Amino acid sequence: MRYLLRLVLVAALITGGLFIYAGRLPGPAIEIARPTKYVGQASPLEVALTAPGAQLADFQITFEQNGKQTPLVSLAQPASGEIKQEGTDRLRITRTIGREAIPDLRSGPARILVTAERPVLFGVRKAQSTASLDVQVRLERPVISVLSTKHYINLGGSEMVVYRATPADVESGVQVGDLKYPGYPASGARFEGVNIADPAVKIAFIALRYDQDVNTPMYAYAKDEAGNMGRADFDRLTFRKPFKKESIALTDKLLDRVVPAILDTTTEVNPQGTNLEKFLVINGELRRKNAEKIASFASQSAPEILWRGTVFHPFGNTAVESAFADFRTYVYNGKEVDRQTHLGFDLARVVNSPILAGNRGKVLYASPLGIYGNCVIIDHGMGVQSLYAHLSSIAVQVGQTVEKEQELGKSGMTGLAGGDHLHFTLLVNGQMVNPVEWWDAHWIQDRILRKLREASGS
Ligand SMILES: [Zn+2]
Repeated sequence: MRYLLRLVLVAALITGGLFIYAGRLPGPAIEIARPTKYVGQASPLEVALTAPGAQLADFQITFEQNGKQTPLVSLAQPASGEIKQEGTDRLRITRTIGREAIPDLRSGPARILVTAERPVLFGVRKAQSTASLDVQVRLERPVISVLSTKHYINLGGSEMVVYRATPADVESGVQVGDLKYPGYPASGARFEGVNIADPAVKIAFIALRYDQDVNTPMYAYAKDEAGNMGRADFDRLTFRKPFKKESIALTDKLLDRVVPAILDTTTEVNPQGTNLEKFLVINGELRRKNAEKIASFASQSAPEILWRGTVFHPFGNTAVESAFADFRTYVYNGKEVDRQTHLGFDLARVVNSPILAGNRGKVLYASPLGIYGNCVIIDHGMGVQSLYAHLSSIAVQVGQTVEKEQELGKSGMTGLAGGDHLHFTLLVNGQMVNPVEWWDAHWIQDRILRKLREASGS
């Protein structure tokens, strides 16, 4: 009898010990992935819960502000969020939080609380864990209004929008279809008598890509860290002029010259087969990769206008061999083998003629670049850049500031070039645009200087 009593006591001690031990086991791992700091009108909430080797017994996500708790999602109330099973032991919970989910939401500090439980000791006990995140609620939308007027945009061309966005440090720009053009502080435009001191005034150079719809939606936007967005429309007219068509005859002589030379300086593609097969990879895949690389320089653009005067160097006295957005058909042995759009101007003068900077700026690139051969890219600030291709020699270095009409090198036929010529294009935030507009003093006056002067009140 005594023995039995002792046995019961020992069993009770063991059970009790296990019970206490189990209660101290770690609960599920909680990761509050979003928001990171701000909650706005409608912000994404994302929480991941991991309970190795077990199913979750329960979880609750709660929003706490000014002493009031609002349940957001729980296992008992899963419908208000989206719960996704990831593997056997991980749950990802997402939902949108904002005014709709939390009617009493106010701007100011708040906290997101998460508790989760997993079963331990064969389901007899539960191990719990909690996590919290302090957030800042911002419900005021940024305010944005467009100051500039009469925007005329050609398909494949450029425009400039002046707007005012507050708070002054909010991210802002102009959206054109699925492309964003960042706004730069207008104080960075100090030339031709322009001087805009208001820190909330911004300038965005924009493009309507040659292959976008002429009715592409556009608006100026300002978006704060809480995801609150303000938008403003601007008056505009868009125009489409038909682009030209041209045919390019591919001879073996041309392919034998350009294909090995381009592949010698290229690591992005490694085509096999005949010269024609290799050419098609160069003209397609390498052309696309080169365009991506060229577009990547947009992020290095200076926040101020570096160019001067009222027009870009127009390359007078030169024969235009191809214009912007000419639609090219490539013919080999009488058969069409490829089609591409030519996104620049081909200008021919005499062999080895000096190539001059279109305007003042800073050299961002001065090396071989695939189909462009020896290539120079100059940054003119606020996303505007110019590109000079097929040079036989380069006379400038990356980082160097060049003046308008300073010599960059000599013309040539490096890269994908049928003969000695300059391939010239302008870029607006990485998108190739028709340079003709920038050679036109009237266009610069009306599209750019008029709007800047109106905004500076001079
Ligand atoms: Zn060209």
